[in-house]
Parts: sequence; structure tokens; C-alpha cells
Amino acid sequence: MTRTPIRRQLAVLDKSLREECGVFAVSGHDAAAELTFLGLYALQHRGQESAGIVVVDDDGEPRIHKGMGLVAEAIASADIQGLRGRVAIGHARYSTTGASELHNAQPALVNYRDGTLALAHNGNLTNAAELRARLVAEGAIFQSTMDSEVIVHLIARSQQPDPDRQVLEALAQIEGAFSLAIIVNDTIYAARDPRGFRPLVLGRKGPAIVVASETCALDLIEGEYRRDIEPGEILKIRDGVIEELPRLAPEGPAACIFELVYFARPDSRIWGRSVDAARRAFGRQLAREHPVKADSVFSVPDSSNSAALGFSEESGIPLELALIRNHYIGRTFIQPLQRDRDFKVRIKYNPVREVIEGKRVVIVDDSLVRGTTSRGLVSMIRDVGAKEIHFRLSSPPIRFPCFYGIDMPTRQELLASSRSVEEIRQYLDVDSLGYLSLEGMIGAVKESGPYCDACFTGNYPAPLTDLQKGLLTSIGCH
Ligand code: AMP
Repeated sequence: MTRTPIRRQLAVLDKSLREECGVFAVSGHDAAAELTFLGLYALQHRGQESAGIVVVDDDGEPRIHKGMGLVAEAIASADIQGLRGRVAIGHARYSTTGASELHNAQPALVNYRDGTLALAHNGNLTNAAELRARLVAEGAIFQSTMDSEVIVHLIARSQQPDPDRQVLEALAQIEGAFSLAIIVNDTIYAARDPRGFRPLVLGRKGPAIVVASETCALDLIEGEYRRDIEPGEILKIRDGVIEELPRLAPEGPAACIFELVYFARPDSRIWGRSVDAARRAFGRQLAREHPVKADSVFSVPDSSNSAALGFSEESGIPLELALIRNHYIGRTFIQPLQRDRDFKVRIKYNPVREVIEGKRVVIVDDSLVRGTTSRGLVSMIRDVGAKEIHFRLSSPPIRFPCFYGIDMPTRQELLASSRSVEEIRQYLDVDSLGYLSLEGMIGAVKESGPYCDACFTGNYPAPLTDLQKGLLTSIGCH
């Protein structure tokens, strides 16, 4: 288990890490479970494979409901009725790698020597396999393949005398990305890793205290945004009182810029700024960097809507709604019917012939990952008679996988990891292709940050311990 260079390890990494999630918590509200359900509903875009809620009632009795699928499929209103209590945490999760099973759904709930312990985690730990191997050697029995379960064991096995110090000791040992909501009996701990990769905000709903991955969840419950939980901060929330525990050892902040590019909802405020405004700024900068003569510009709905608006505002090229997205596709429906590579694209998007035929068009998308969506879209748009197709991307080429909680494929599968922009242009079969530059992207949102831009640069701010020790391919930790 010796350390080997990251680039060499990336080349042999044979699986992707998928840990996209939304976290929500309520302390001190009679309808804690219902509010958590609504919060998760608003955070649905952060995780679509499973959802769960843990509540603790006034007698300290925990109750849990977890299910597979979208939040509304996983949790029925009858389930919520049974979840009585004033303290709740919830989780929506998107994770696979052979682990799309109910026992991997969160929150995790256990009974340990000091009582009830439940945990909801957004992010991806980079030393979970190493810690897990150590814990297993010491006799720990794991119930899931989630990296998050490591945190549960570290808290439960801590020799510290009280939950505050147990939580602190556990969080000091984990590396990578974590935005956490933890219940110990009637107390909620909310914490972010020292680099603050993933968002987590603090709000209020009347006298109740609320924690959420994104502000759009506060909006839905008509809660009030108070502030971001800061990198390295650990809050203890109980009976309407918030106490700040000692912070984790500081590291340079590294807010994920891909949250602004793609992941967060445009109506949220992330890193203290409007996601919609950030995406428009990316679009405007893109128009300055890659101008083009065209009749219309359009987005690939919905993720690039704001960027396409910005591109249109800056270039003066009219914005059209040229692609219509079907919002009702279930995952299970797609799989058995997937006849050819383009089928997935055709079932999701349909072009509006009248606004494309005979026109020089600009398509703005937020990012190119494997390139399959874009290639399919381009061929569809050609089929309905576009005269010229100019493709613009409101982020730089994605060349490296994410180890901090965004679902990205392995290096080999990333289209831009081994191809030049000209090769990608040919592959997509477009008249021109323009990516937003790294400097342009960061410059457009420079009032916040510093950012993690590892997926574009390969500069990973937090150590990739498991990868470097060769543990990622040998232990099914994700
Ligand atoms: P691809 O066909 O793999 O190039 O997919 C590109 C599309 O996927 C873009 O339009 C993005 O909006 C979207 N996308 C980017 N990152 C992710 C992600 N981590 N998970 C799911 N979709 C993504």
C-alpha cells in the first residue's frame, strides 16, 4: 500500500465515484418530518435514487423511513404521519457503483452507548477505504458500502466522554468533502469540511432551526435564510439554541465551482451568490470569448438556461426555445427500451423544427462529460435542417474525475481527457466549438471562492489518500 502518483492512479481507476446528495435537518418543530420531506423535495436534483428521514420524538425514540426512488416515491404521506417528533434529518441520494440498494440509503441510524445516532452526508470522503480497513481490523461490522458509515463508526467507537467530543474526534479523522447533518438523541450537529467543498446553509422556520444543502429548500418551506455554515464549522443545535463548537483545523477553502456551473438549482444562493446570476455571467463571458454570427441561440434545458440567456444578452443574438425537454421520463422506462445510443437523447429532448430549419444556430450547454448527449442533440438538430451549428460550453473542458461528490465518469470516459478542442468539434460534428476558459469562468465569479476546479485542472485540494494507496479499486467503499 505505497503512495503512487495521482496521475498514474487516475489512469487505472476503473470505476466512477457517485455520491451526489442533498441534506436537510429541522430542530424544534412539531411538523419536523413534513418539513424535511418538503426540503428533500426541493433538493431532488441533488439525488434521485433514494430518500430517507429520521425523526426523534420527545421521549428520545427514533423513527426512520427510507425508500428507493424519487423523494415522493420513497416516502408516502402515510409514512410521514408515522414520523412524529420535533427533531429530524433527511437525505436524498444518487449513488451507484453496485450500491444502489436500500441498505445504502441514508440517513444511517444506529443505537450506540450514548443513545441514538443518525447521519446524513453530502460529499465524498477520500480516506474512507483506509479508515474502513482499520475499523474492520478492529472488529467493526459494516452494514453498508457507504463511505458515510465510516463516520458513524468513528463517532460510536470514540473513547471521548460526551457526544460533542465524539463528533469532533470523528470529523478530525476524515478527509475529503462532507456537509453533514447528524442527530445524537435530541441534538443536531451540522458540519462542513474545512475546505467547504459542498454547500450547507442555516435557516429558520419560526422558532425552529433548519439546515439545508441549498437555499431553494428554505424557500419551499417558507423558511428564512440566516447564513452559510462556514468551512470547518461545527454547529450544535438543540431546543432552538445554536452553539458553535471548536472548528476543524483550517485548510484553504475550495468551494466546488461545478455547483455553480451545473449542480445547484439556479434559484438557490450558493457561496453567498445567486446561482442564476453566476450562470448568466458565465454565458456573457462565453459570448465575449467565442463570438459568432448566428440567427438564434438556445439552451439544452434546463441546466444551461441561465447561461444561454447570458450568451444572448451579451451577443444580441435572440434566444429561442428550440429544444423541448420531456420531464416525465422514469429511469426504469428508459433502460429496457434503450435501443441505440441516440435513443436516450431523443426520448428526453425534441427539437422545434420551425425555429431551427434553415437557421445558423448556437447551442449553449453547461458542460460536456462523455459527449453522448451533445452528439445526439447535434445530429437531431441537423436532421431538422439547421444551416450551421455552433456549440458553446459555459465551462472549460472536464478532464479529471471528481473525488469530492460530483458524479463524473473515469478519466478514460471523459471526452476531453484525451482529445483536443478540434478533435471534439469533429466528434460532435459542429461548425464551431467554444469552451469558456478557466480564467474567464473564475473571473466571472471572483467575488466568492477560492474554488475547487479539480475537474478542469487536476489540482485536487484535499488529499486523495485512498486513490494513492491503491484502495479505491480493491475495497468497494462507495
Ligand atoms: P454527456 O452526454 O455525458 O456529455 O452529458 C453532458 C450533459 O450532462 C450536460 O448537458 C450536463 O448538463 C449534464 N451533466 C454534467 N455533469 C453531470 C453530472 N455530474 N451528472 C449528471 N449530468 C451531468
